[in-house]
Amino acid sequence: MPVCQACHEGIPDPDDAVFLGHEEGNSGPGWEIFAHRAHVDQVQPDPVAERALARLLIARAFES
Ligand SMILES: [Zn+2]
Repeated sequence: MPVCQACHEGIPDPDDAVFLGHEEGNSGPGWEIFAHRAHVDQVQPDPVAERALARLLIARAFES
């Protein structure tokens, strides 16, 4: 199920999911970016990079 990039909720209805693009992963096939039709305007300019960075920082915090 696609996850909305704006509110981070799942999008059970395919008709409500707007495909925003495909992000290449560093170690994998990457992932696709979706948002609710109503939330497209709320998606940040570069949400994936931001989230990837947050994940990296969290991972580093747990390692140290
Ligand atoms: Zn949403």
